[in-house]
Amino acid sequence: MKKLIEIAGVLPVSEVNGPGKRSVIWVQGCPKRCPGCWNPEFLAFGSDWKLTPKELVEYVRKGTHSFSDIEGITFSGGEPFSQAAALAEAAKIFRRLGLSVISYSGWTLEDIRLTKDGSKLLKQLDILIDGEYIRSLATTRRWRSSSNQRVHFLTERYSHYRSKIETDEQEFEITLQSGGVTITGFPDQSVLRVLR
Ligand code: SF4
Repeated sequence: MKKLIEIAGVLPVSEVNGPGKRSVIWVQGCPKRCPGCWNPEFLAFGSDWKLTPKELVEYVRKGTHSFSDIEGITFSGGEPFSQAAALAEAAKIFRRLGLSVISYSGWTLEDIRLTKDGSKLLKQLDILIDGEYIRSLATTRRWRSSSNQRVHFLTERYSHYRSKIETDEQEFEITLQSGGVTITGFPDQSVLRVLR
């Protein structure tokens, strides 16, 4: 049976969801319900937009001039590790094409290592940013929304970022696409209220 990935959205190019220019793939569905979750519309499983790993790679290829616009892929959500087996296949193809792959997860690295499919996806990642959002620990540290979340460098590809991530502040982007406006990254809640 073909593995399918439930997609919530794809942004062809972003500069605030990990190192360099990256395509961001938001998957649909997360079993957690963290109070204050930034993407509540991505929590229910059951997206109408489902792609096989190969179809997802082709979709990104078309949106990025055959990947020349980006250096890597970021999986976000929703919970990427709820669809770990299929995303691991997609990540393997992206890596073969020379792209880096990073992922967010509401679970911790230690939890993920206990699962077979989660371990498969971990093997394909350069960076994992782990931990659920905890509103009382809200932070402005780069790439994270609460201070319990950790950035794990799983390969050496981005090891030069180790010293930068604890000092750099968060950034956010507003992208105009044909389907509407995408706000991504980590806007301050007051900025978010104004934008909405
Ligand atoms: S794990 Fe992430 S996507 Fe899931 S509810 Fe928590 S903040 Fe939202």
